[in-house]
Amino acid sequence: MSEFQPTRDAGLSRLQDFLPQAGFNYTKKRNFDLPGHAEVSRLSPYLRHRIITEEEVLKAVLKQHSANQAEKFIAEVCWRTYWKGVLQLRPSLWTMYQADLNAAWNLVQTNGGLRADWEAACKGETGIACFDHWAHELAETGYLHNHARMWFASIWIFTLRLPWVLGADFFLRHLLDGDPASNTLSWRWVGGLQTKGKTYLARPDNIEKYTGGRFKPEGLADVAVPLDGPELPPTGPVPTGDVIPTNGKIGTLVTDEDLSADPAFANADCCAILRPQTRFGPLQTASHVVTFKGACLDDFADRCDVPITHVNDVDGILSWAADAGLDCVVMWIAPTGPTADKLRDLRSRLAENGMSLSVQIRPYDNLAWPRATHGFFRFKDVIPKLLAGVS
Ligand SMILES: Cc1cc2nc3c(=O)[nH]c(=O)nc-3n(C[C@H](O)[C@H](O)[C@H](O)COP(=O)(O)OP(=O)(O)OC[C@H]3O[C@@H](n4cnc5c(N)ncnc54)[C@H](O)[C@@H]3O)c2cc1C
Repeated sequence: MSEFQPTRDAGLSRLQDFLPQAGFNYTKKRNFDLPGHAEVSRLSPYLRHRIITEEEVLKAVLKQHSANQAEKFIAEVCWRTYWKGVLQLRPSLWTMYQADLNAAWNLVQTNGGLRADWEAACKGETGIACFDHWAHELAETGYLHNHARMWFASIWIFTLRLPWVLGADFFLRHLLDGDPASNTLSWRWVGGLQTKGKTYLARPDNIEKYTGGRFKPEGLADVAVPLDGPELPPTGPVPTGDVIPTNGKIGTLVTDEDLSADPAFANADCCAILRPQTRFGPLQTASHVVTFKGACLDDFADRCDVPITHVNDVDGILSWAADAGLDCVVMWIAPTGPTADKLRDLRSRLAENGMSLSVQIRPYDNLAWPRATHGFFRFKDVIPKLLAGVS
C-alpha cells in the first residue's frame, strides 16, 4: 500500500506528526536522503493538490515554533509559492517547455541512440547505482527526496547528457506531487536556464554524505556548463480574481489544482468535479498518479455537501451548468499548467451561453505571486507578510 493515502485526513495527520520536527530538527537533517525519509515532511502530494494549503501548514507550524526556529521549513514551503508565482507571471515558460518536449520526443522516435539512452535512464539501467535506485524509487513510490531530485536532474543533464525536458517529463509523469511550476522551473534551475549562469552539479562526496554512505558514484560529470536557452521572457500581468455575483444561481467547479477544505463557495447550489488528466505530454501519466488524483477527488466529493456531477471537459461543464440552470460558475484559479490549458475557452464558452465564470484567487496567492518577479532571495521579503496573514 502507498504511504501516501489520498485523503485530507491523511494529509492532516501527516502534518500533525511532522510538526514537532519542523524546527531545529528540519534545519539540521533536511538534506539527508535516507530510507523512509523521516527527516522531511512528505507533505508535497497534499500541498500540490491543495488538499491542505500552504497557509494551513504555515499556521500549524507557527503554533509550535517561532518563525525563527522554523525558518528553513517555512522557506521551503514558500519555494512552492514562489515557483507558482514565477510561472503565473511567465506562462510562456510552460508553453516553451511543452514545445521543447514535443521536439525532444520526436528526436527520441527517430534517433535510436537517444532512445536507448533515454530508456535506460527511465528504467534505471544506466549502471550509475544511485541514479538507477532513484529511477526505481520514483516509479515505485511516486516520491523522491528533494536532494535526490537535484542529483538525479543534474546527472540526467550533465553526465548522461539527455535533454532536460525529457527528464522533467519523466518526473511529471511519475511524481504524486508532479507540479508544472515546481518541476519545470527546478529542472530549468539545475540546468542553468532559470538563474543565468548558475547550475547544480551533483558531486560524489555530497551524495555519499547525504545518503548516509549508501552511494558514492564514480564517473559523474565534474563540470556543469549552463545549457543554452533564450533569455527569460518578461513578466506578464498579475492574474486578478473575479467577484462572486450576489444574485443568481451559482455552481462550483472543482479541479485537482485545489481540493482544499472549503468545498463549495458560499451560496453554491451544486458542484462539478473535473476528472483528472491522464496525459501532460506525449506519454501517458503513470497509473499510480492517475489513481492518486482520482482518489483525492473522491475524497473531496465525500466532504462536499451539495450535489456532485463529474465532468470531463469544457463541453461537460457547459452541459452541467445549463442543466442546473446556473448563472455563474465559480472556481479556484487553475494555475498555469495542463488544467488551465484545458479550461482556456471556458469563460468565453460560458458567456456564449449566457453564463459567467468567476475565478477566485486566495489572498495568500494575491500577496505572493506578484512578488515572484526576480530570484527567491528578493521574494523572501514577502514571507513575513505571508506569515502575518496566516497567524
Ligand atoms: C528537479 C526537481 C524537480 C522537482 N519537482 C517537483 C514537483 O514536481 N512537485 C513538487 O511539489 N516539488 C518538486 N520539487 C521540489 C521539492 O523537491 C519537493 O517539493 C519536495 O522534495 C517534496 O518533499 P517534502 O514534502 O518531503 O518536502 P519538505 O522538505 O518536507 O518541504 C516541505 C514543503 O515545502 C515545499 N518544498 C520543499 N522544497 C521545495 C523546492 N525545492 N521547491 C518547491 N517547493 C519545495 C513542498 O511543498 C514541500 O512539501 C522538485 C525539485 C527538484 C530539484
